Order: sequence, then C-alpha cells, then structure tokens
Amino acid sequence: MNARYTRVVLALGSNLGERNDTLSEAVADLVDGPEVRLLAVSPVVQTKAVGGPEGQPDFLNMVMTVETTLEPLELLRHCQSVENKHHRIREVRWGPRTLDVDIIAYGDLESSDPQLTLPHPRAAERAFVLYPWSLIDPAATLNGTRIGELAARAADFPDLTPFDGFGDFNGVPTAGAVE
Ligand code: ATP
Ligand code: CA
Ligand code: CA
Repeated sequence: MNARYTRVVLALGSNLGERNDTLSEAVADLVDGPEVRLLAVSPVVQTKAVGGPEGQPDFLNMVMTVETTLEPLELLRHCQSVENKHHRIREVRWGPRTLDVDIIAYGDLESSDPQLTLPHPRAAERAFVLYPWSLIDPAATLNGTRIGELAARAADFPDLTPFDGFGDFNGVPTAGAVE
C-alpha cells in the first residue's frame, strides 16, 4: 500500500427500489477514480430497519474497505455525491432511502466533528455494520474490542439474515437468525 493512501471502512445500505442493483452500482461508483482503490467487499446482509418509521422495507447492508488519497471531508463529499446519484431521499431521519453510505473508520482518525464523526459513533452497536465488516476484516477492533464480538452483542444481531445467494456466508458462521 502506498503511504499516501489511508485505509477506510465504508458501510452501505439500501431499503428502497432495486436494493441490490443500487449497492452493486454504488460500489463501482465509489471506486470509479484513482483516488479510491477497492480492497474488499463483504457479503450482503438483510436487516430490519432500525429506528425511524414503522413498516419500512428491510435494508440490505454491506461493508467495503478501500484505500484513498482523499482527505476525510473530501471522502464524505464523494460518498454523498454517490448517494445523490442514486436519488437519495433525505426527508425523514432514519427513514427509507435508496442509498446510504457511511464512513465507519478513516485510518485511526478520531473526530467529534458532527459533520464527520470518526469512527462512526453508532457503528459499535450495529450488527448490520459490524458483522459484514468482521467477515472481511476479522482482526479489526472498535474501542479496543474485536468487531465480531461487538456484533454478537449488538441488539440487532438476531435479526440479520444472509441475502439470497449467501446461504452459509461461504462457510463462515452465520448470525443468530440464519437457519
Ligand atoms: P446514522 O449516522 O445514524 O447512520 P444516517 O446515516 O441516516 O444516520 P444521514 O442523514 O445519512 O444519517 O447523515 C446525517 C449527517 O451525518 C451527514 O450530513 C454527515 O455530515 C453526518 N456524519 C457524521 N459522521 C458521519 C460519518 N462517519 N459518516 C457519514 N456521515 C456522517
Ligand atoms: Ca447510516
Ligand atoms: Ca449516512
């Protein structure tokens, strides 16, 4: 890895429209340029929507790791431009959206800036982020704890199911609700 590149963890979610197509295109869009290089892409998991209005469709979620020469706020703008390209709807907080891209970690950077808080302040409680992340980066930690351990403790862990085509996560132990 080139020293100018910083390793970044991104979490993607979609619960409106052609969810899997959106995620697939978003992965390509995010690395469409020399400033962001793809390192790894997780399986897609299906999760109940957390918070926000009742009765909204299930989310598809995934995590990708990249390395980038973009500064943190430049990367945020890049992620938001990809969201906007997919007609992101911003009407209700935690409401349905075609695409959500969150920056979970930017190297070891810690920031309490509300515009870009790092690591993402709610990631440590979200199995829908932690679990797919643990599949591509099992040694990663948040607040000194392995992310796989945090995933297993998260309240939404039993609600995770594999998305079609990843019946057994390629042999990796599955989350609570998987049959
Ligand atoms: P949550 O952050 O709980 O997952 P959300 O993704 O639905 O909620 P958004 O409406 O997408 O929230 O984002 C609100 C604001 O959060 C953005 O405008 C952005 O400036 C800010 N933000 C702060 N930290 C981050 C981060 N680590 N990644 C992405 N956005 C962030
Ligand atoms: Ca989010
Ligand atoms: Ca977001």
